[in-house]
Amino acid sequence: MKKIGLYILMMVYYFSISAQTIYSYSVDLVNVKDKKVKVELLPPAINKDTVVFCFPAVVPGTYEKYDFGRFIQELKVLPKSNTNVLMKRIDENCYKIYPAQNIDKITYYVTDTWHTSIKEKIVFEPAGTNILPDSVFVINNHGFFGYFRGYDKMPFNIHYTKPINFYPATAINTFTIGQNSDDLFYTDYHQLVDFPVIYSFPDTTSIKIHNAQVLISCYSPNKLLNSQYIASILRDLLFALSNFFEGKLPVDKYAFLFYFTDKGTLSGASGALEHNQSSLYVLPEIDSVFIAQTIKDVAAHEFLHILTPLNIHSEEIEYFDFNNPKMSQHLWLYEGTTEYHAHYLQAREGLISPDYFLSNMLQKIRNADDFNDTMSFTKMSKNVLDPYYHKNYNNVYEKGALIGMCLRYIVTQGK
Ligand SMILES: [Zn+2]
Repeated sequence: MKKIGLYILMMVYYFSISAQTIYSYSVDLVNVKDKKVKVELLPPAINKDTVVFCFPAVVPGTYEKYDFGRFIQELKVLPKSNTNVLMKRIDENCYKIYPAQNIDKITYYVTDTWHTSIKEKIVFEPAGTNILPDSVFVINNHGFFGYFRGYDKMPFNIHYTKPINFYPATAINTFTIGQNSDDLFYTDYHQLVDFPVIYSFPDTTSIKIHNAQVLISCYSPNKLLNSQYIASILRDLLFALSNFFEGKLPVDKYAFLFYFTDKGTLSGASGALEHNQSSLYVLPEIDSVFIAQTIKDVAAHEFLHILTPLNIHSEEIEYFDFNNPKMSQHLWLYEGTTEYHAHYLQAREGLISPDYFLSNMLQKIRNADDFNDTMSFTKMSKNVLDPYYHKNYNNVYEKGALIGMCLRYIVTQGK
């Protein structure tokens, strides 16, 4: 009933702003050929002659240029009847369209970044797209949906046609769920990118931690893990996190979206990407007891990102430009202090022993030796999209965490 109520509110909003001021997307998850998903867009009214339609080059939380437009195929702009429209691709991500008033519809196919033959600039899987028909779809919305430059603050409705009983695991609560189709609604492009979805047969568990309803969703192809088990190991961590946040969690709704893979990843890495109310994990499908501490370490890290960069950040992050991003000088803060506190809070709350905590920090001291020790962290952060500096990016999880430890020591000594 609650969901229906929300949806009615949403629909009232939808119709009160009129259909012409909304991006109306349709996605077909049923008729999928060659791991390509067909997407159609009925665009909002555009009052300019020329408009630029883009997929992101970079998305928040990743410090690498992925150029998601590379994974879009057969993009077509269809004109309204008895009119013409011209389209020209201007770079890997963007298309110039003229005259914009004549656009009836845009159609294209989304391909799979997890299994692509494009071997340059491989997308870290938690930020990418995975298309396994009849099994699972990992939908990072920036990989599926574009926006018109200058029109990123308009609402989006995404209509999915889906295999029967597939469920969209996500933190967004403005949606309606049917047997064969769903509609998900977002206030603007920034919110759309902030709420990824994993579509599959549902394996979800919901737990209440103080003020917050927490959804745990699990896709484990060989059923080595399930959402109930993950909820049981995250429960203590979430109570520890709420102690850290002085008695409550900083959001009222949060979703942990877990994808366990029984194959290696194209990037060779596993891990997760943070969002304001969710985090998406790609981890190896191995023995559930063996991976339990890794799940806690990564989940603590991603959840703590709510503090920084999601809330405490520089102006470059505040006004994120998906196609011309400016990087800030603060990766030592965004990633380093987050990584340190993910371990520190578990030790402080008794989830891990002091010895185990110290062995983790010792390992970081050793791992930091693999990187350029004289490179300035602020300079590396500012220039992280440049391959010369990006080679040292992973040091934010090693020396960056140690910087966090030193800062905490200085602050607590000062008290
Ligand atoms: Zn991080």
